[in-house]
Amino acid sequence: MKRIHRIKVVLIMALTLSKKAMAVKPSSTLAITAKAKELKAQGVDVVGFGAGEPDFNTPDNICTAAIEAINSGFTKYTPASGIAELKAAISEKFKKFNGLDYKPSQIVISNGGKHSLTNVFSVILNPGDEVIIPAPYWLSYPEIVKLADGVPVFVRGEKETGYKVNVEMLESVTTEKTKALVLNTPSNPTGMIYSEEELRAIADYAVKNDIYVVADEMYEHLVYNGKKHVSIASFNEEIYKRTITVSGLAKSYAMTGWRIGYTGSSEEIAKLMGSVQSHQTSNPNSIAQKAAVEALTGDQSTVKMMLGEFDKRRKYMYERFAKMPYVSTLEPEGAFYVFVDVTDTLNMTYKGNKIETAAEFARILIDEYNVAVVPCADFGFENHIRLSYAISVEQIDKGVTRIEQFLSELR
Ligand code: GLU
Repeated sequence: MKRIHRIKVVLIMALTLSKKAMAVKPSSTLAITAKAKELKAQGVDVVGFGAGEPDFNTPDNICTAAIEAINSGFTKYTPASGIAELKAAISEKFKKFNGLDYKPSQIVISNGGKHSLTNVFSVILNPGDEVIIPAPYWLSYPEIVKLADGVPVFVRGEKETGYKVNVEMLESVTTEKTKALVLNTPSNPTGMIYSEEELRAIADYAVKNDIYVVADEMYEHLVYNGKKHVSIASFNEEIYKRTITVSGLAKSYAMTGWRIGYTGSSEEIAKLMGSVQSHQTSNPNSIAQKAAVEALTGDQSTVKMMLGEFDKRRKYMYERFAKMPYVSTLEPEGAFYVFVDVTDTLNMTYKGNKIETAAEFARILIDEYNVAVVPCADFGFENHIRLSYAISVEQIDKGVTRIEQFLSELR
């Protein structure tokens, strides 16, 4: 009897799961989007302001390049860190668009921006290293850092500073364990952009403290009002050495499902990331890589058209929200999100029930009005919701009208 008991204990111990994995929260942006899509599939007239996913189809020339890749048998393994042709195209894009000199050997192509970030943190962090993440932040940063044994350290950018952080704020959370800063401009979720002056000050801070900057520039093409995207690595040799520039094709080229992200970094970091990737995923999809070459080197007119459309939607969203009672938002300057402060609605009642959190606000919107929005507690910011305007003006109009209806029923 005794022996059987002992075996049982051993079996239970062997079934213990990874604490690190169990500490990860599933992505709520993807969960909300999945819920909206599921309701749509059931025939419910849902308006989805959830995930930042362009409603446009991937441009035809890009799809044609992918079909040609299949037809010509380009369906086998490629070098783990990506094909030379795509690295050359990315290198050229870095030079022309970002003013950055990354040789192909400094570029690693991965399965989307999240994967690029995963590679970055896997190779720059040792257990206990701290990574400063300005809040509000895109919800995946802390989870990716934790999975790489890092410790996320948060610092809040307040509404008064455009939800951005400055050097003083960064210094207040910098310790001898600080290894990196995540800098996302244009920002998801706020749509704000760091000016060149702000970036120069942050670059000096990073050099002075000798830390890496993980510059997430995924929304670099989506910049409005005649503003220009500025890459922090472009200022001088010192900040260039310490920066890993991350970008991808999902948002600008309507290629979310194709999963192509990339990084520009020192050769040393690129080499390490290439090795890690060679064991974890091998190459990014061969067909998607060929499509990405066409995206970067082919006709850019659809990209311009999409940017124009996003700009129209941005203005429309902002104008409508600016007129609403109880909520407030800053005019977004980039990406395709509006970040809405709903503080004044909290503690009001809807059908006799008190609304206490932005999550409750969002729950009522989806359950009662079929409008999906993202509550931002997971983005490190209570009392706010995020809406993506990467959907048609007709859908925006319908969704915003429903939100106005909801607000009119608050007491
Ligand atoms: N990055 C997009 C968003 O924030 C897509 C969903 C996700 O990856 O979180 O909505």
